[in-house]
Amino acid sequence: MSQPAKLPAAVPAAVPPEVYGQAVDQADIGISITDTDANILYCNAAFARATGYGAEEARGRNQSLLSYRTTPRRIYEEMWASLQAGQPWHGRLLNRRKDGSPYLAELSITPVHDADGAVRHYLGMHRDVTAMHQLEQRVLNQKQLIESVIDAAPMAIALLDGQGKVTLDNHAYKKLVADLGVAEPAELLLAALERAGLAGKGGDVRIERGGGRAPRWFCCATQAIEIRDESAGGFFDPPSRPALLLIASDVTALHAEQEKARAAALKAMLAEEEHAATLRESLSAALYRIEEPINVIASALALMRGRGDGHVAGVLDQAVAGARARIEELRGLLPAERSADAEAAARINLNEVVRDVLDISTQRLLAAGITVDWRPEPVLPALLGSPLRLRSAVKTLVDNAIDAIAGTRDGRPRREIALATQARGDAVALTLDDSGPGIPPELRLKVFEPFFSASGQVGRHLGTGLSRAQQIVADHGGIIDILDAPRGGCRVRVELPAGRSAP
Ligand code: FAD
Repeated sequence: MSQPAKLPAAVPAAVPPEVYGQAVDQADIGISITDTDANILYCNAAFARATGYGAEEARGRNQSLLSYRTTPRRIYEEMWASLQAGQPWHGRLLNRRKDGSPYLAELSITPVHDADGAVRHYLGMHRDVTAMHQLEQRVLNQKQLIESVIDAAPMAIALLDGQGKVTLDNHAYKKLVADLGVAEPAELLLAALERAGLAGKGGDVRIERGGGRAPRWFCCATQAIEIRDESAGGFFDPPSRPALLLIASDVTALHAEQEKARAAALKAMLAEEEHAATLRESLSAALYRIEEPINVIASALALMRGRGDGHVAGVLDQAVAGARARIEELRGLLPAERSADAEAAARINLNEVVRDVLDISTQRLLAAGITVDWRPEPVLPALLGSPLRLRSAVKTLVDNAIDAIAGTRDGRPRREIALATQARGDAVALTLDDSGPGIPPELRLKVFEPFFSASGQVGRHLGTGLSRAQQIVADHGGIIDILDAPRGGCRVRVELPAGRSAP
């Protein structure tokens, strides 16, 4: 390039005039200067390296000699419209090298305004961006491929950023939004893993759905992933952010099978337990009643002795002692009650306990024409305790509710049991409302006494069920309250401490 005749006004005096020409000649980007018809007047060494045309060969020819003839016409029209308006233009064109090979050129054309403001030249700068384009396409293709594979996967997949926001998900995950009725199923699944003590490890979690719909089971796996910072600030020292990949497979059908088998075994165990309890209660009641006349006789003997009738009293004394010994022998034969430590402590989900009891009680509920409104808290903290004893306690409450509703003959329109669980900080609560006659306030403490029956009848449980249920709840550190149900009838409220660590 020839040296400029005089320095432009803005050139600082510190730069010698010939340096401008040398800088353009030696710049590592293809530079050309054309007239307004795009005829090449000058091109530098980098232009020659990129196109294959040397400066002498290119000079006087039109820039269109570089066209591969596949760039859409509209792009050239936009280019020229911009240049003719005196505006620069940037874009990508498909070019042909001298040897015929194509390359993608990233082009920047600037109209050069002279001292009068007229445009007589264009300055073109272009570089070969074929490799960058290939890389961009590869990234896009891989993204497309990954998204297609992820979308086709039957399991729900979600990627959460460091703030817990879902940044990538698939079709199966989006389906969960509707199925579980929540905006972000990942939050629900991760909370369930956390509460089940499976955070970071993964495992099967149960998600309640309410509205009488069966719960869903998901086998969840999580994987921490280091994501590189994409911002300019992280160019030299890229900090990485931890992201979390969550994969959840629906294993509801598998669990349904397992639960069926487990419920059958549980039903048998509870029936056995109930049978033993009935036997224990009947015998206890019989012994209690036999003791009453013996105690009366013992009191009478004390009176006889006081009146000096020692001989007869001595004989009767022996008879009373013998009777008491037989009673104690019989008491020793009572079937033992399952004690708190007879069962290994386990992590218990109160929702599962209630569902099991409802499953077992289905026939009795149907026979009594009672509908059940079951509203479980979707995710509950685990309790630590005896699974069978807790089921036995909840079954007693459900049985009592059925008895209370079935015993009413006043043609109540509502025959309903409503159960709900709630997580209350470190506690888990269960409320059970029945539409029976309710329990008057003055009897609400008495009903927990053994052998007390609110109905005054000696029924199936001889009035020891509630005292046993209270004992079980107390053994788990909880309490039972009896209140009025909001819509009439009785409300039993059980509160149990949760959040204890697994044994
Ligand atoms: P052309 O007949 O040359 O033009 C296509 C359309 O552009 C026409 O419809 C016409 O409306 C418009 N047009 C063309 N010339 C003018 C003009 N002088 N004034 C107003 N409108 C006009 N093209 C490339 O393919 N690769 C390059 O690397 C490249 N570099 C360029 C660098 C500079 C500095 C300039 C000014 C232009 C460059 N061009 C480049 C554009 C090139 O000059 C041609 O316009 C283009 O290659 C299309 O050529 P063509 O023969 O297919 O069609």
